[in-house]
Amino acid sequence: MVRRNKRAVILVSGGLDSCVAGTIAKCEGYEIYALTIDYGQRHAKEIEAAANVAKALRAKEHKTVQVDLSALGGSALTDPDIEVPTDREAGEMEGEIPVTYVPARNTVFLSIALGYAETIEAQAVFIGANAVDYSGYPDCRPEYIEKFDELAALATKQGVEGKPTKVHAPLIEWTKGRIVQEGLNLKAPIKFTWSCYLGGDKQCGRCDSCRLRLKGFQEAGVEDPVPYE
Ligand SMILES: [Zn+2]
Repeated sequence: MVRRNKRAVILVSGGLDSCVAGTIAKCEGYEIYALTIDYGQRHAKEIEAAANVAKALRAKEHKTVQVDLSALGGSALTDPDIEVPTDREAGEMEGEIPVTYVPARNTVFLSIALGYAETIEAQAVFIGANAVDYSGYPDCRPEYIEKFDELAALATKQGVEGKPTKVHAPLIEWTKGRIVQEGLNLKAPIKFTWSCYLGGDKQCGRCDSCRLRLKGFQEAGVEDPVPYE
């Protein structure tokens, strides 16, 4: 049941994690306001997937905001001259921040989500950030989310008036296997998601994102409904 004023902004990227995070919000009774940031990533597949996920979550609104981070570059996802790594084992992905890290991406995304939340008087923002399988991303850590909450409380009118927006990152300490499992349990619209960093007709199965996703489905003991090359 949706209670009045129980609104949440969901950062919907088109990927698996944000789809599950959005489904959790839905199951907790939030009215969904989906937000997709078109940041100049390599392909439009994710944007298309995000629209389908938002629709499947029966979002009250779905906004797509364009912020061209390719003007800055600095990541394999926003600079075509930097190659997306393929065929790496999970062990090889750990230990250093990968070239697919987009400089300050979650801070940019959460800031826009915070503005949207304040506009619609939502006190919750959901993000599918996950620290376990991709430990290299500094803006996917629990301590980062905590600090952002502090910022949100003092940076906005809502916050100063005692109704701060809180960031919910329900998957932050989950393994990919658990994300898949919980997503299936909650009937998340996983079939509409797209995780591949490349923009082929099917998911490549070779980039870090595909490999982590496949590992998650393997751990959960189920087949991914989205096809691979
Ligand atoms: Zn891929």
